Amino acid sequence: MKTLKGMGVSPGIAIGHVYVIKNRFSLSYNNNYNGKIKAENLLKEIEKFKEALIFAEKEIINTQKNITKTLGEKYGEIFAMHLLLLKDKNLQEETIKNIKEAGVSAEYAFHNTLNKILENFGKKDDPAFEDRRKDLFDVAEKIFSYLNREKFYSFAVKEKTIIAAHDLSPSQTAVLNPHNTIGFITEIGSSTSHTAIMAKALEIPAVVGMDEITKQLKDEQIIIVDGFNGDIIIEPSEEVLKKYEKIQKEYLEQRKNLYMMKSLVSKTPDGKKINLLANIELPEEINTVVKYGAEGVGLYRTEYLFLNRREMPSEEEQFHSYKKVLLLLKDKPMVIRTLDIGGDKFISELRTPKELNPFLGNRAIRFCLSQVEFFKTQLKAIMRAGYYGDLRLLIPMVSAFEEIKETKKIIQECELELKRENKKFKRLSFGIMIEVPSSALISDILAKEVDFFSFGTNDLIQYTIAVDRVNEKISYLYQPLHPAILKLIKISVENAKKYGIKTSVCGECASIPEIACVLLGLGVDELSMSPSMIPRIKQTIRKTGFKKMEQIAEKVFEFSTHQQIYDYVKNNLNMGGEK
Ligand code: PEP
Ligand code: MG
Repeated sequence: MKTLKGMGVSPGIAIGHVYVIKNRFSLSYNNNYNGKIKAENLLKEIEKFKEALIFAEKEIINTQKNITKTLGEKYGEIFAMHLLLLKDKNLQEETIKNIKEAGVSAEYAFHNTLNKILENFGKKDDPAFEDRRKDLFDVAEKIFSYLNREKFYSFAVKEKTIIAAHDLSPSQTAVLNPHNTIGFITEIGSSTSHTAIMAKALEIPAVVGMDEITKQLKDEQIIIVDGFNGDIIIEPSEEVLKKYEKIQKEYLEQRKNLYMMKSLVSKTPDGKKINLLANIELPEEINTVVKYGAEGVGLYRTEYLFLNRREMPSEEEQFHSYKKVLLLLKDKPMVIRTLDIGGDKFISELRTPKELNPFLGNRAIRFCLSQVEFFKTQLKAIMRAGYYGDLRLLIPMVSAFEEIKETKKIIQECELELKRENKKFKRLSFGIMIEVPSSALISDILAKEVDFFSFGTNDLIQYTIAVDRVNEKISYLYQPLHPAILKLIKISVENAKKYGIKTSVCGECASIPEIACVLLGLGVDELSMSPSMIPRIKQTIRKTGFKKMEQIAEKVFEFSTHQQIYDYVKNNLNMGGEK
């Protein structure tokens, strides 16, 4: 038995066997997977493999051109080697033959070919072959990235599996089968990284920031993931196993009781009603929104509709998808956010070039304004869906006034186009995310232009304290109650009130009871969070007077640090050890 410590980011206990997703791609499959596919699909698989070869060739040639241009001929030469490896007859013919004769998928056949070629390279750790192995992996990675656009990870996972990976990109998390996956562990990440957000959305216990965990774990080992305090226990003793089974049972029982909160009103003892809304990533999550009694969706992150696909979704497809979610909500409101890619969310199909500082780069609204036609497709789909319910539009990462002006101009163009096309639509309430200090500081100017503010504290903290939200090494600096954050929120709320617009918080910290009380005390109108977090916050609201929250919020500015503020709030709310 061995215990390792990381950061618990999604509550709960998972007990099961582990599946390790190797850093790049795995060279082995679970024993029970034999890659077999239906005979009528074999030709399609061969086509897919050929497409992957063309894709990889283009990728290599592009990289070669870029590197030659920036670093010189000599550096470009390495890619000539990659092209040679790609064109290797064995690699191509062997794979196609394997698909045909063994009746297996392209991925599976290519894995087999790769393993055979590697065997010919001699002993696994022979340093003489190190460079060639690396080259081959580079080429293979490109082929896999094409082949695996669809459901790779879902079939790699057996029942009741805990996934361990270096990181789980949104596209990987999105295809994991939530019925089989019972826990996540990643080497990097923080409470606001997308692995954490998805884990909470799927109600799966997760631990992040476990350096080198993929090297320490072996497939099939029995482990325990403690999503509360971040412990990973490898091959637990009988006694420890029993202890955790008990904690797990109690937690599930407690969660069931929290479901009962669903029908209770979210109102403080002194009569202040506070709307609690849900953050969702996938349309399927609408069931949990209902299950936990959210009063609507406060943040629908649309990125997930764009992941894992060969072509971007058309206006028609997006329209139907948004409309479907909205109709399921009946008359409840839904705030839908336009595409927020960049940062730690990438969509390879959009072929966005790699940037040195992606979080400071062509992200979110900046990206959309640089791809107007693409942006219009999404806006038109949203405006059309809006005809069928209470839909509100939210623009991410606004950092300057001009971005609002420009977006509004594009919306007007969309309206004209929709009219011309005779399509039904609605002019939507228009809000922006306050998640960059510049927008908080000019919130007086911005408030005149929009209908609501939504604080994206995940990013606001990152950009204000200059702390990468996914870097576990500096997670100690990730402080929601840092006086600078509270000041920015206070300024923005005051400006919002001055111009009569509503505010909400949709960052992860809204679901921490102590922080939620401070935010509400500062005058934030609504909170939006992972649906499963709603009952606990409702419980807090139902036992804490609004006057008390206001008093606390006034007092917090007398302190110098996040910790001091947190301790003060906790002691004054009498919440004991709850965190
Ligand atoms: C935020 O930044 O707080 C937020 C809600 O958006 P995301 O986590 O998707 O960046
Ligand atoms: Mg954000």
